[in-house]
Amino acid sequence: MTTVPKFVIGNWKMQARHEHGLQLARDIAHGMKEAPPPAHLHTIICPPFTQLDGVHQALKEVCLPHEQLALGAQDCYPASSGPFTGDISAPMIRDMGARYVILGHSERRQNHGETDAVIRQKVKAATAAGLTPIVCIGEHLAERNEGRAASVLSTQIEGSLTRGFRGIVAYEPVWAIGSGITPSREELQRKLQLIRALLPMRLMTDDIRVPVLYGGSVTSVQAPSIMSIEAVDGVLVGSASLEARSFLDIIGAAA
Ligand code: PEP
Repeated sequence: MTTVPKFVIGNWKMQARHEHGLQLARDIAHGMKEAPPPAHLHTIICPPFTQLDGVHQALKEVCLPHEQLALGAQDCYPASSGPFTGDISAPMIRDMGARYVILGHSERRQNHGETDAVIRQKVKAATAAGLTPIVCIGEHLAERNEGRAASVLSTQIEGSLTRGFRGIVAYEPVWAIGSGITPSREELQRKLQLIRALLPMRLMTDDIRVPVLYGGSVTSVQAPSIMSIEAVDGVLVGSASLEARSFLDIIGAAA
């Protein structure tokens, strides 16, 4: 019997300055070395662009296999190079030793006006550069309360994933991010089952299990209960990934 891979992803956002980021990466790596998680658990840390190289070097010093602890970025530009001032391309991210990239986070959809079509272009670019895309989807509170969550998720899946998508999907209800509120077990189970049912329209096959993660106010307290939901393949963690002990506890809960 094959074990389904699980994922714990830390999204540092724009929150750790250089030295803090390097120390955080070292502390996480050392903690994982002392208490190694099982082989089916993959941990990914996603620092700001400016720290990718430094964190990559810091992780190399601790010598953990990348299957265990890998590096990811928080966004990429859809083109691979060109006159795009201030942007960073997927191949540049790959050059820094990253293997994953978060795309379509609700903060980018909201603050940068990213549409599903733009996100799909980024997914294409990331995949072409050899990065695994981690695509975030999720409804706003009003959409949930008006009973429109299913159609929002369906539109996001159809619009932001490429045909034959191979990557990770993170269900992040916008109302749960940074709010301290998480969906009930029943709601989470229902939403993840819905996402799984919608995915084959983009994967073009029923045979592939795309990892579907949950994100939104995950702490070491909620992680065991969230990870025990059958449909959950892992967690995407914001605030609680900025402190080594709490992130290591979440890794422990997911193991
Ligand atoms: C996020 O923004 O991806 C996230 C999950 O944040 P938090 O855990 O802080 O809610």
